[in-house]
Amino acid sequence: MGIKSDIRLIDDNGLRIDGRLPNQLRPIKMEVGVLDRADGSAYIEWGGNKIMAAVYGPREAYPKHVQEAEKAIIRARYSMAPFSVDERKRPGPDRRAVELSKVISEALESVIFVEKYPRTSIDVYIEVLQADAGTRVAGITAASLALADAGIPMRDLIVGCAAGKIDGVVVLDLNKEEDNYGEADVPMAILPRTREIALLQMDGDMTYEELTGAIEMAMEAAQTIHKMQIEALKRKYVEVE
Ligand code: UDP
Repeated sequence: MGIKSDIRLIDDNGLRIDGRLPNQLRPIKMEVGVLDRADGSAYIEWGGNKIMAAVYGPREAYPKHVQEAEKAIIRARYSMAPFSVDERKRPGPDRRAVELSKVISEALESVIFVEKYPRTSIDVYIEVLQADAGTRVAGITAASLALADAGIPMRDLIVGCAAGKIDGVVVLDLNKEEDNYGEADVPMAILPRTREIALLQMDGDMTYEELTGAIEMAMEAAQTIHKMQIEALKRKYVEVE
């Protein structure tokens, strides 16, 4: 983010390097129930990102001292495969993965009816197989489908979506080059029905007006992504005549 360069990210026609308009998402494909051994699972391809999410639980939380008497604990683990990025990533959690796991756990907790399952844990594994910017938001979108697939009651299907700023223009869903050379990236987790925001981070800088524009753009896109989630769930759960 913010590396000064001569690379132009928006051309004379107002199009981005991958041909998208400022408010256009990358292509997204989702599939629910892809793993036999997990209680719930989902796979998402979002632009160049390929991410698997798997859910176990609710099950008795272990070790016992992490149990909460009044609610389930949500433990998300975000992990990037060594082969998921250009420069081989050392296996195992780094600071970034620990931070992302924490904020993703909190975002997911805000939609799950955790009080229904005291003393249990709901474990959510987000495995990034291929990364191309926006993995945390794509991971949240897949995790929410995996939770639904596991039958865990939620207030809403949470959606992850990012917006930001490149070449002075507010845009939706930054790709890798835009993330590297743009001015700001704002990943968000959104509850589409109530239009609440459960996670908002910002890397880079933008004006107040630009930030509200970015939030508005992501909020609209979240409605589209939410429809895709419902369709993905229907493909698994509704019999086709
Ligand atoms: N990335 C990488 N190596 C790392 C971390 C990130 O190559 O150790 C790349 C990866 O493509 C990722 C992108 O940088 O998607 C942007 O990373 P960021 O931390 O902004 O998170 P994301 O946008 O994926 O949520």
